[in-house]
Amino acid sequence: MTKIPLLDLQAQYENIKTEIDAAVLGVLRSGRFILGPEGEALEREIAAFCGVSHAVGVASGTDALLLTLRALGVGAGDEVVTTPFTFFATAETIAALGATPVFADIDPATLNMDLTGLERYFTPRTKAIVAVHIFGLMPDMERLEAIAAAHGIPVVEDAAQAVGAARNGKRAGAWGRAGAFSFFPTKNLGAYGDGGMVATSDADLADRLRVLRFHGCRVKYYHEEIGCNSRLDEIQAAVLRVKLRYLPAWNEARRRVADFYAAAFADLAAAGRLILPGSEPGSEPVYHLYVLRTAERERLAVGLRARGVASAVYYPVPLHLQKAFAALGHRDGDLPRAERACREALAIPCYPELTPAQLEYIAAAARAALED
Ligand SMILES: *Cc1c(COP(=O)(O)O)cnc(C)c1O
Repeated sequence: MTKIPLLDLQAQYENIKTEIDAAVLGVLRSGRFILGPEGEALEREIAAFCGVSHAVGVASGTDALLLTLRALGVGAGDEVVTTPFTFFATAETIAALGATPVFADIDPATLNMDLTGLERYFTPRTKAIVAVHIFGLMPDMERLEAIAAAHGIPVVEDAAQAVGAARNGKRAGAWGRAGAFSFFPTKNLGAYGDGGMVATSDADLADRLRVLRFHGCRVKYYHEEIGCNSRLDEIQAAVLRVKLRYLPAWNEARRRVADFYAAAFADLAAAGRLILPGSEPGSEPVYHLYVLRTAERERLAVGLRARGVASAVYYPVPLHLQKAFAALGHRDGDLPRAERACREALAIPCYPELTPAQLEYIAAAARAALED
């Protein structure tokens, strides 16, 4: 029977195996595993790719967010405004620093934080805004930067799902004070383990991040402050350098998949049975995930599974209703648009290696599932 996974990392590896194997073996032979030439080269290449002056490799996307917020001075008693419709780490890192995540409801058209009326979430304690480019689609960053600047609040991009996404020609990572990337294996630019990076044009921020990721050291064994151990290792950096060369073509292929689905599902969208991923004028999305919304999610997921097509719910629970944030005192209905997205969203396969025949099969399977 046909089996189509949500993402096919083995197929990707088979296509680039020779280069990946050589890159990994090169590191093994070099004897340098932490903070070496591969990591430094990747930092330069990512900075150039994003159009910023600095990039700092860290151990994960979570650490990229955590250390950036910490370097910006976020701590106990502070508030950070962000979206409830995202992966947990976006708000977890805020709370881990002793600050309070303040959740702003989303724009149902883009599933990103709604910028209209965003100011109502600001208080004198608002220390930062974390904007997530959910599923690889950037919000109106010019507008967000203007709102934030008017209140003197720094913006951090959670660009974990958006390496290579752009807005009016300016890439994710180049907006706000800094952008945090994740190289978790399933992200658009994925390592073979954990990894992350912060992109910024703020030299002082980059310098502080380098100190924090290395036990508060500038000079080995002389510790200026309490830092942590959060580095991107040489094997992952070498892998990512190979993959970065393919990323523009891969992101382009994901956009072609999205275009295929948009055409294939146009009638179902017009009939109100499916809501297709939104767009934002000027934004060039990278479709980290292709997420449909439908009131018939269960029927669609079950019918796809019966036909061998994987799908997955991103995200089942909005962050304001997570048990871990119970102390914030939120209830059902507080952020209705995010809650509705959590009831209706379903990701279907979207990756560069999908063949035309597989795409036709998925579209037919989805259509049949809705008739079951
Ligand atoms: C994946 C992800 C993170 C965390 O990245 P890790 O590398 O897994 O720590 C943070 N925010 C968003 C939106 C993500 O998708």
